[in-house]
Amino acid sequence: MRVTWRDHSPHSEAFDDIYFNPLHGKEESLYVFWQGNLLNEKLAGNVQTVFTIAETGFGTGLNFLCTAQSFIGQSKEAQCLHFISVEKYPLALTDLAKSHTCWPEFKSLSDQLIQQYPPSTPGVYTLAFLEGRIKLTLIIGDAASGFSQLSAMVDAWYLDGFAPSKNPEMWSDALFQQMARLSHKGTTFATFTAAGAVRRGLQAVGFEVEKRKGFGQKRERLVGRYLQDNIPEPTVTPWFDLPSQARPEQVVISGAGLAGCTTAWALAQRGIKVTVLDAADKPAQGGSGNPQGALYTKLSVKPTLQSELHLCASHFSLNLLRQLDPEQTFWSECEVVQIATDDAERTRQQALINEAAYPQEIVEDGSKDTLSKLTQQTVTHDGLIMKLAGWVSPADFCRALLNHPCIDYVPDSQLTELTYQDGMWIVQTAAQKTYHTSTVILCQAEATSQFVQTQHLPLKPIRGQVSIIPASVTNQKLNQVICGDGYISPPFRDHYCFGATFELKSTSLEITDSGHDTNLHNLAKVLPDLAADFEKSKHLLTGRVSFRCSTPDYLPIVGPAPDPETTLERFAPLRKDRKWKFSNVSASHLPGLYVNCGHGSKGLVTTPLCGEYLAALICAEPLPMRKPIHDALNPSRFLIKNLIRKQI
Ligand code: SAM
Repeated sequence: MRVTWRDHSPHSEAFDDIYFNPLHGKEESLYVFWQGNLLNEKLAGNVQTVFTIAETGFGTGLNFLCTAQSFIGQSKEAQCLHFISVEKYPLALTDLAKSHTCWPEFKSLSDQLIQQYPPSTPGVYTLAFLEGRIKLTLIIGDAASGFSQLSAMVDAWYLDGFAPSKNPEMWSDALFQQMARLSHKGTTFATFTAAGAVRRGLQAVGFEVEKRKGFGQKRERLVGRYLQDNIPEPTVTPWFDLPSQARPEQVVISGAGLAGCTTAWALAQRGIKVTVLDAADKPAQGGSGNPQGALYTKLSVKPTLQSELHLCASHFSLNLLRQLDPEQTFWSECEVVQIATDDAERTRQQALINEAAYPQEIVEDGSKDTLSKLTQQTVTHDGLIMKLAGWVSPADFCRALLNHPCIDYVPDSQLTELTYQDGMWIVQTAAQKTYHTSTVILCQAEATSQFVQTQHLPLKPIRGQVSIIPASVTNQKLNQVICGDGYISPPFRDHYCFGATFELKSTSLEITDSGHDTNLHNLAKVLPDLAADFEKSKHLLTGRVSFRCSTPDYLPIVGPAPDPETTLERFAPLRKDRKWKFSNVSASHLPGLYVNCGHGSKGLVTTPLCGEYLAALICAEPLPMRKPIHDALNPSRFLIKNLIRKQI
């Protein structure tokens, strides 16, 4: 959104309105929204751990900064704040930063916000402050439609947004209906406006509304509360309904790769004790064990659910890495250059640039000359420059995640049997240890489907061999990740790592010369000079083989484990009619059992956000993804597809 500046405060030309009161912005925010929602009283009398506020119109983030600062001053240590805000026309980062210069008292929070500020592309982005005690979920999109895809229970509403007379589209009945859907009995709202249409709209959906004295010269404003008990509405896809469980004290996770470690960390950050079991003697010994992996989003020409997931997830991964390893000792934030090695790929890339669905802060076109200059290499094809990207050492990442006081990591502990008895899971390991727990999360890549409860999951391992060579064999130094038919990262611990092969049929763990030849051949297509240097020292090549865990639709499988038998029974009418309208039928799950697998070669991108999603789901917090995305990851989807295709 373009803004103009009037005495250090931003003004919207499109709406001919101000973002905040230029003289008393902070005082007005606290008076209208914090006090209007009686937040001091609510926090003092509240024992719940997570307090949720939702706002229309994030704008400069002033309301968020004021609220976060007041929350820090007023809350007890066990209380957390989840602030959700929806913004249709996000401010450019430079404008947001400039507006914050008016409030030096918020410098620390503002710096964290600026560092984590998301791209302006539609999606749901989660930012963490104060080691996760304060979360900000920024929904880039329209208020009514953004809230319609949100799963959350809101305690207080901030109705901001430009004045109803200047922005009538936002203050719609559709927005008020979503507010009612996301409220519980006692949820409050506050707004600066006293417009009659807003008052009537809120009353019509069940809010009690009162007029109060406005701030400064303003005559009136509105406050109120939701009076009804909220009953969840039936959905058209009941098989994707999510279970709710009591917040567990302790969780067992099987698998210490990226999926298991990120999920464990997200739960541990919420104060939950997590036991992480793994068959191997060290973390990250499977698909997450290569020395380096690229972190970037392979964008589709037009946005899809997958590209949105990848974009929001890349943003989340980078923020998590910045938090865990600010010095970038085991990762690096750098561009990823995606070189088009054939005409079809270049045509696709040009279509993507022409479509202009993604801003330059995410992707830029690069001619071979631009790319040669950027990489200081001879690049013989055009390509894309991907921002919001980098490389990571996944095993170091896993170790850093496991290094948490609430996580007990137990190596050499292969999970052999999983049984459910008297409301508890009994988890047995090959080392003859038994764990009793309400909640189990299986994060074992393709081995996730080895249990009777999960054998319906269609997981397929795909072999990949990477090649590793001492960096001293060449005088050339890469500073970016370069992708073509494979990828190569900048040197790490004095070695280059490049590859990987993609072998659908082989299950061999052996490192092969033909695998090295494939990797060298693919490298030569994008960086011929570097490949020639490596070729000369071929005898020094070593490598590593692992298996990507892939799924038929190339999306991860993340969520509650369905009860396969009951699911097939309940939804059997889909065999006859795929549009069957179910009434009073809900999804059936195995209580307390979750899965997180199928991340393919994109685990660095997708696992951190998926771990956060599972932790939020298990703790009944606002979910960090919009519903169509978590539906697309839902482990029930294959059972349902097979029913519709009459294959079961
Ligand atoms: N709360 C903001 C702050 O603390 O700086 C100020 C909000 S400003 C007055 C109004 C915001 O609402 C603008 O950023 C505008 O882009 C946003 N907005 C307007 N219409 C919207 C809509 N339909 N959905 C979501 N956001 C909208």
